[in-house]
Amino acid sequence: MVTSGKADKKRTVAVIGGGAVGVATASFLLRDGHDVVLIERGGIGEGASFGNAGVFAPSSVVPMSMPGTLAKVPGYLLDPLGPLSIRWSYLPTLAPWLVRFVRAGTQAGVRAQARALTPLLHDSYGAWLPLVRNAGDEALIRRDGFLAVYRSQADFEGDALGYRLRRDNDIAFEVLREDELWQFEPSVSHDYTIGVLFPQAGNTVNPNRLVRTVAEQFQRDGGRIVAAQARGFARQGTTLTGVETAAGLIPADAAVVAAGAHSRPLAAGLGDSIPLDTERGYHVLIADPETLPRRPILDASAKFVSTPMETGLRMAGTVEFAGLEAPPNWTRADYLLTLGRRLFPGLAPDYPQERVSRWMGFRPSMPDSLPVIGRASASPDVVYAFGHGHVGLASAARTGMTVADLLAGRPPAFDITPFAPTRF
Ligand SMILES: Cc1cc2nc3c(=O)[nH]c(=O)nc-3n(C[C@H](O)[C@H](O)[C@H](O)COP(=O)(O)OP(=O)(O)OC[C@H]3O[C@@H](n4cnc5c(N)ncnc54)[C@H](O)[C@@H]3O)c2cc1C
Repeated sequence: MVTSGKADKKRTVAVIGGGAVGVATASFLLRDGHDVVLIERGGIGEGASFGNAGVFAPSSVVPMSMPGTLAKVPGYLLDPLGPLSIRWSYLPTLAPWLVRFVRAGTQAGVRAQARALTPLLHDSYGAWLPLVRNAGDEALIRRDGFLAVYRSQADFEGDALGYRLRRDNDIAFEVLREDELWQFEPSVSHDYTIGVLFPQAGNTVNPNRLVRTVAEQFQRDGGRIVAAQARGFARQGTTLTGVETAAGLIPADAAVVAAGAHSRPLAAGLGDSIPLDTERGYHVLIADPETLPRRPILDASAKFVSTPMETGLRMAGTVEFAGLEAPPNWTRADYLLTLGRRLFPGLAPDYPQERVSRWMGFRPSMPDSLPVIGRASASPDVVYAFGHGHVGLASAARTGMTVADLLAGRPPAFDITPFAPTRF
């Protein structure tokens, strides 16, 4: 399993990226007794991990590209409140990724992807628990379930394959209809007539504070955080000697690339051409809302998630293909507010500016909805841990455990070959 020959010893491990994945990974590496340095160019937890919907749902094993997704795209694009938008100038750059995305969505493909994601998302609440417990702030995460709601039977039936994939992978759910749904979640409009409860799911009440709290504990436990941009790797042959950063060389004998949507050039420097792109997403957050659901709710008809946060009610979602450079299109966030009012009739028709904040972030997305977890081609000392797309918060802790297994020479707890960097 281990090819570097240094695996049993305490190593200096540099983790690039201080998002959910990097911070969880750095924490598990520290538990194994390594000397760990976390390299972050911006603020800890301020990338995609800042503004997501905060859901830890084992039920999120359903890939983004499904049989029939392509046929729905024109309708999505024509609807201003639809879940998808494309900056047309970005289309030529995106085209190869899109081709792979469409090809991934076969019956056999989605079955294999859901099977691969199941152990990574298994008990995602429980995977985070040792980290928040160690930091003394268990209240940062909750396990109250996750509820998907539908406006029509036709919308529900449209997701039939997704439910089949969950059933095939032993993911529990329960269907609630009309009165049962409205009593279970009184904040939801009676225009929604079908609900599906995923009782094993949890959420965080603040994704950014979750990542920062775990990072602060990592420091208290002896981990180091360096504020710098990683640029590449110093090697002697296949042996890593350090990470090159804007602030100079950081000596290391192992490294982890967990730079989210920005990981592609770092992997390219190690000979791996990885089709990583970004699905940009948005949120609106209403401070002090008039109504608050008891648990996160997926509007499965409009495709966005509303989560009760400690800072208010967050509506998060949408997919925008526009790359890493284009400025945000804040109307995408404003639509989420319109959709949120449709879901929760108790919300006010207007809010003063200071009560509503908006955010855009870069999901690190692979065309087959599977992350990249495995060793770099040019050096077994470098492990990749990026590309978690829509499920990076939920799967961060288990990814961290898996990377720690790899660098310790332990066999990972589940099959990671579907996540191989060389699968394309
Ligand atoms: C609207 C929306 C809702 C979402 N909802 C959910 C959800 O409910 N549940 C869920 O599981 N997931 C959700 N996600 C997805 C989730 O947010 C991401 O998958 C996850 O945050 C990715 O974490 P990461 O650590 O890989 O990346 P990031 O959080 O982006 O962290 C990467 C870090 O690397 C740093 N970095 C980049 N390049 C360098 C470099 N060269 N040197 C040093 N540092 C570098 C960046 O500054 C950044 O801090 C959602 C995403 C969006 C956009």
